[in-house]
Amino acid sequence: AKKDGSRARIEVHDGGLTEDEVDLLQLETDLRRALDGDELRLFYQPIVSLADETLLGYEALIRWQHPTRGLLPPGAFLDAAENNRLTSRLGAWVLRQACTDAAGWPAGLRVHVNVSARHLAEEGFSELVVAALDESGLPPERLELEITESTALFAAEATLQAVSEVTARGVTLALDDFGTGYSAITALHRLPIHTVKIDRSFVADVVTRPSTAALVQGLLNLGQGMGLQVIAEGIEDLEQADWLRRHGCAMAQGYAFGRPAPLPSRAEALMAEVLVEQAAEEAAAVLE
Ligand code: C2E
Ligand code: MG
Ligand code: MG
Ligand code: MG
Repeated sequence: AKKDGSRARIEVHDGGLTEDEVDLLQLETDLRRALDGDELRLFYQPIVSLADETLLGYEALIRWQHPTRGLLPPGAFLDAAENNRLTSRLGAWVLRQACTDAAGWPAGLRVHVNVSARHLAEEGFSELVVAALDESGLPPERLELEITESTALFAAEATLQAVSEVTARGVTLALDDFGTGYSAITALHRLPIHTVKIDRSFVADVVTRPSTAALVQGLLNLGQGMGLQVIAEGIEDLEQADWLRRHGCAMAQGYAFGRPAPLPSRAEALMAEVLVEQAAEEAAAVLE
């Protein structure tokens, strides 16, 4: 697609669509098909305790298994979904799938689900969360919704209402990409935030840049002073993990502890159980 500004002229002269608009329409059409079909996937990335690296839960991260373009990351298609009614369909799919998956995990593990600002402010959002919990049987305390600071920036009455309805049930809220938005402090002040996730752009420089180290220390102090849980995002090496541990960060996520990956499907897990049972029966038969 043209990036030189000439598309505005094309639009005026022939009344047709620009190449970018055609691309976007195609993407939207494809995404509708993906939602109807079986092309969307949730990958899961571990969230661990920094003290002993025990697994605390997973963040669900969407992927699109595109029939011709391969596995697409969210950056390749989420904006297209944001432009229209697809936002709520996609968000609903993610919530239902993540709750269903997490309901099958050991009871201590929590699931983090990213929620778009637009979807959160839509009518029916809290009902959707309640339905996803009820249908899956996942206890609300095991669900954490991740929102970005921009969400709070235009925190409409509808957003505050939805947030209070879901948190009243026991669902918790995380402020994602903490420190990168314009309104981190306002968000902490206005919303019932449970967890802050220190953005990976800070973590990347924490060992090498003293000014970034001071900034991260400040974010840690702020989070701890407010009684919040703090997760450092994007930890790629053990030096970063060690720095954060020594400076009082309790939880972490990043390639150093595991990349986002598909979980074994329920069907596979069930099959594995059957195989184990069969093997146990055969072993017992041999002993008799
Ligand atoms: P996020 O919520 O901040 O998720 C963390 C992103 O950092 C993920 O990118 C993850 O793969 C990446 N990451 C994790 N550890 C490391 C690391 O050590 N190094 C580096 N370089 N990257 C790391 P991903 O999966 O591409 O997702 C990008 C963003 O897309 C997410 O950022 C989130 O804002 C959005 N997103 C993902 N899934 C969903 C979803 O289901 N719904 C909505 N609304 N947004 C989603
Ligand atoms: Mg997130
Ligand atoms: Mg983040
Ligand atoms: Mg992000």
